[in-house]
Amino acid sequence: THFGFETINQEEKADRVAGVFTSVAESYDKMNDLMSFGVHRLWKDYFVSSLNPGATTPLGRPQRVLDVAGGTGDIAFRIVEHAHSQNANPNIHVTVSDINPAMLDVGRQRSLRLPASHQAALSFLEANAERIPANVPDASLDLYTVAFGIRNFTDISAALREAYRVLKPGGVFACMEFSKVGNPLLNAAYKQWSFSAIPLIGQLVAADRDSYQYLVESIERFPSQEEFRDMIKDAGFDVAGCGYENLTGGVAAIHKGIKP
Ligand code: SAM
Repeated sequence: THFGFETINQEEKADRVAGVFTSVAESYDKMNDLMSFGVHRLWKDYFVSSLNPGATTPLGRPQRVLDVAGGTGDIAFRIVEHAHSQNANPNIHVTVSDINPAMLDVGRQRSLRLPASHQAALSFLEANAERIPANVPDASLDLYTVAFGIRNFTDISAALREAYRVLKPGGVFACMEFSKVGNPLLNAAYKQWSFSAIPLIGQLVAADRDSYQYLVESIERFPSQEEFRDMIKDAGFDVAGCGYENLTGGVAAIHKGIKP
């Protein structure tokens, strides 16, 4: 492959991932729209609605959420918005965490455009998902979200164990990630698009072909829906009632697990 990821060590992978996201931070939001024809917005809306944040029993019970690899804030902002407008419940706090300070900076800047009450519900934390810092204590969270982040982690199992540690019993792990397309025709079209067009768009729009080439290859290497569900199960989560759900024929998939 382009970067020869199979042969590099874990430290090198982490460095490359850091380089990619520092390099794409400023163009990240525009590129997402171009690469997915805007569909990533629909997936993110769907993902957050499916979690129905703010719907607590009893209504108004405080809810703590950690959005891991939260990047420029797309998921966290939607969670706060959903709790406020769909459930009239402002009693929610979302921490946007990311390993990359450049991505978090863009997120912080974007959050300034939100209503003051939404801004007050957000905080930002520089953190590696594989070693969540001690200011996120054990069993302290109701919801852990990670969207289009986990495939970049060096040690996915370590991140899943950390997710398990920080969630309360009954807390929900929810992940949205690019996945495997089942239909061969759709898969052929999708592969054609991602391997030829995405690096080219990256080159033309963000002047950064290599980073977008990396993103496409990282999707290729990520485990299938079933394999990933088993990894979540191995970390201790209950996946029986939820498991996974495909979006757009498996271009992306949502996985959920509950900490028993
Ligand atoms: N969740 C956001 C979204 O859906 O738009 C951002 C997704 S972006 C494709 C992936 C993010 O994962 C980047 O911001 C990157 O810095 C972050 N990331 C990569 N490795 C990480 C790690 N080990 N711990 C935390 N974040 C990481």
